[in-house]
Amino acid sequence: MNNCLFCKIVNHDIPSAIIYEDDIMMAFLDISQTTKGHTLLIPKAHFKNVYEIDSEIISHIHKQIPNLAKAITKAFKANGINIVNNNGEISGQTIFHYHVHLIPRYKEKEGFSIIYKNNMDKYSKEDLDDIAAIIKETLINIE
Ligand code: 5GP
Ligand code: ZN
Repeated sequence: MNNCLFCKIVNHDIPSAIIYEDDIMMAFLDISQTTKGHTLLIPKAHFKNVYEIDSEIISHIHKQIPNLAKAITKAFKANGINIVNNNGEISGQTIFHYHVHLIPRYKEKEGFSIIYKNNMDKYSKEDLDDIAAIIKETLINIE
């Protein structure tokens, strides 16, 4: 895609620090380095996000995650790693070419966090069953 930054990285029109590359995907360092070793995994073909990506391609990308996560963690003696994928502006996606962030973690406060608010008190067992039933029903009609 013409105006896509990550397509430009795939085509080597913009330089990047590449860790892994094959016919289908690339792994390269995120320029922001939120933590040391912060890496992005992308398909070489342009897909906007999880709503558009081909399932074979997403499988291929995600198959590489365990080894890449182990390598990044081992290389810099990290204590853990967050694997994050934003889809849509509301979720924090800023580059609209599918990507997965691998963010190694060294200590608690280092410029990255995820907060899961607990709303347990607002949902009954019946509410959860209703929500699950609606999603299950919708899933049947997803191609
Ligand atoms: P998002 O917010 O869409 O999930 O993540 C986009 C990521 O792309 C950000 O973490 C940002 O630092 C990274 N990024 C933006 N521009 C460039 C660039 O030119 N090169 C590299 N390697 N990463 C970039
Ligand atoms: Zn693209």
